Amino acid sequence: MGRDLTASTLAFVEGALSKKRYDPDQLRGTDPADGRTLLARYDLERARISLTKDAVTARRGGLWRWEELLPVRGRRFVTTLGEGSTPLLPPGRLSRKLGLDGLHTKAESTNPTGSFKARGMAVAVSRAVELGATHLVAPSAGNAAGALAAYASAAGVEATVVMPADAPLANQLEALACGARLILLDGLISDCGKLARLVCEKTGGFDVATLREPYRVEGKKTLGFELAEDFGWSLPDVVVYPTGGGTGLIGMWKAFEELQALGFIDSSRPRMFSVQSDGCAPIVRAFEQGAAFAEPWPRAATQAAGIRVPSALGDHLILECLRRSGGGAIAVPEAEIVSMQVYAARNGAGYLSLESAAAFAALPIMREQGLIDMAERIVVFDTGAGFKSEPPSIERPTVVANDPGAWEAIVAAL
Ligand SMILES: *Cc1c(COP(=O)(O)O)cnc(C)c1O
Repeated sequence: MGRDLTASTLAFVEGALSKKRYDPDQLRGTDPADGRTLLARYDLERARISLTKDAVTARRGGLWRWEELLPVRGRRFVTTLGEGSTPLLPPGRLSRKLGLDGLHTKAESTNPTGSFKARGMAVAVSRAVELGATHLVAPSAGNAAGALAAYASAAGVEATVVMPADAPLANQLEALACGARLILLDGLISDCGKLARLVCEKTGGFDVATLREPYRVEGKKTLGFELAEDFGWSLPDVVVYPTGGGTGLIGMWKAFEELQALGFIDSSRPRMFSVQSDGCAPIVRAFEQGAAFAEPWPRAATQAAGIRVPSALGDHLILECLRRSGGGAIAVPEAEIVSMQVYAARNGAGYLSLESAAAFAALPIMREQGLIDMAERIVVFDTGAGFKSEPPSIERPTVVANDPGAWEAIVAAL
């Protein structure tokens, strides 16, 4: 038996607001009590028997090293493309330029499919298929589409993604190449969510939209596990996270609680900061107003597709995490996102996605406002690779004729 089963200690799923408990071994979307998110809960007493710091560090397998605290029970249902265990990059030239000597980057763009959406989809797809799903459906502003398509293909099930028609082309093509059905909608991600729910209703498909099932958060929480491990079983002072639906923030916060219960870390927490564009900043506005929930943002507009989320189902969980951690929320001017993408690339930080660039663009603002200190240990999430965003408008060189006689003049003019 041992070889067929993971060491998962999943005990029940619980309404994030209602606190009602449900059987976790049935395929479930949102909380029947209030339509909000269900969160997975584990038998942590049992988990700590086999899950020790040394044991987890000695294991291989990316995020699946944390199997006691993941929901998949049958080993054959673990669908992996190599996600997780991404590098935490030490401060470099960009850190010095920004005057932040303790600035680390969690390089999530090194995940399969080029973004951290891989973490959530790896776990959600594995678990949904284990519980009997054969057709998975999701709305996506960008990277979730490609990640769902890739993992559904790996698991051998059908996928349908619903995207705004102006979603980045790279994401659309990735989903199609992986064999997903792509529906392009003349609307925003929230409209796509409604159409995705209709697709599920009519086809019997299972909705894996952000926070509409319990397990994408479980994949994303491994970000928090890795941070603690990366910092020698402590946590950094500050986390800066480009926020759309907020699964990563919610997941990390949950991870910290689980790690503390296991005795891996103490009760101190990083100050958690959400970054959004000033063209779509519902969480920032709600944070500043002291509201518990965020009003939908009208006419949401930003080139950073992954954070163009006018209304997040987990708004209350995001806001609670920001407040309880002593963090905050920053809206960066849209123009600064695009210029930071190029600035970061030219200062050795690699070719970042626009979402990642938004997070970096928040740093000078946070410094100016006295929200961060130059000596603090700050982690910025590089959530996706630059080539997945719409390309920047950089002028390309004219094509050189394939005439060696003309080359010397060209080389001389460099
Ligand atoms: C989806 C996405 C985000 C936002 O993540 P959430 O967990 O939904 O807040 C940020 N960056 C990239 C590249 C994304 O694809």
